[in-house]
Amino acid sequence: QTGDERAAKIPRYIRVNTTCWSMEEAIKEFISRGHVLSGPFDHPKGFKKDDHIDNLLLFPPDSQWVEDELYKSGKVILQDKASCFPAQILSPPASDNGVVIDATAAPGNKTSHLSALMQGKGKLYAFERDRRRFSTLQMMLQKARCKNVEPVNTDFLTTSPEDPKFSTVTHILLDPSCSGSGIVNRLDHLLENETESSEDQESRLNKLSGFQLMMIKHAMKFPSVERIVYSTCSIHAVENEYVVRAALKSEECTAGRFKLAPKAEVLPTWHRRGIAGETESPDEAESLIRCSPGEDATNGFFVSLFVRESNTRMNKR
Ligand code: SAM
Repeated sequence: QTGDERAAKIPRYIRVNTTCWSMEEAIKEFISRGHVLSGPFDHPKGFKKDDHIDNLLLFPPDSQWVEDELYKSGKVILQDKASCFPAQILSPPASDNGVVIDATAAPGNKTSHLSALMQGKGKLYAFERDRRRFSTLQMMLQKARCKNVEPVNTDFLTTSPEDPKFSTVTHILLDPSCSGSGIVNRLDHLLENETESSEDQESRLNKLSGFQLMMIKHAMKFPSVERIVYSTCSIHAVENEYVVRAALKSEECTAGRFKLAPKAEVLPTWHRRGIAGETESPDEAESLIRCSPGEDATNGFFVSLFVRESNTRMNKR
């Protein structure tokens, strides 16, 4: 299969931005425009709700949105299904005192998804180190009408976990730079991935995985953090299962502070799990999520969820 053939089998995923309106209102609007509730491949104007992600709709792959008022006004967001997994799995709090970090935020699709799940309550710090991508993030957050987000143009690795303003952060989303090897369709992902370097693949992947591990270990230093989602749009085990394995062997985990959440807490209805041969145990693989480009009607993707072992919050010791 060529990339184009694979892309043609991927529906156009539309996330209803519940910061602006409800899923029910959106469905009514689409029906009033002549769309028909059926599969996106069964009818030229077919659309349906996604089976795994709340507030996600599937439309035919060739449906056009860029000029649509709903897209321009931020009421719908073009976001691949797999890219919606991390925020839903992180399950951030929707409470006035909830504090969450999106460590690597631009262009901001997952940030606006987190903000919608938090119902605009509490505080969401969104870090982005690249100045140009930070401007895109600001624009996207404004368009999506996110009210509880504080975007910060800084390197997450330079943030101090000891800073009092982060003392109550309980949830962190880590979706760092990766090889982007899972991406088969355009639009929403063009902005997500930086230009590939010319270094040979192996050393490039090793460098990336070293950086990804550093990011996870830094996230684990935040004193009240309970849940950390680590995700990539890479299909390479070296950026996925290997990074998770290395994190589990690191001092931060071996001190008994973090473990992988069991499958039951990580979208158990999703069929494709981590690669068993690349993890320490079959259970560990079951805790992980993979999406296979072409086979799952999504881009290639990987998601893991680290959770704190009970009673190991640093501020309780
Ligand atoms: N989560 C984003 C979304 O769904 O729209 C996509 C994130 S993209 C894969 C990774 C982003 O992290 C890039 O914009 C990159 O500039 C940024 N980044 C990489 N390292 C960073 C760091 N140490 N601190 C903050 N941002 C970083």
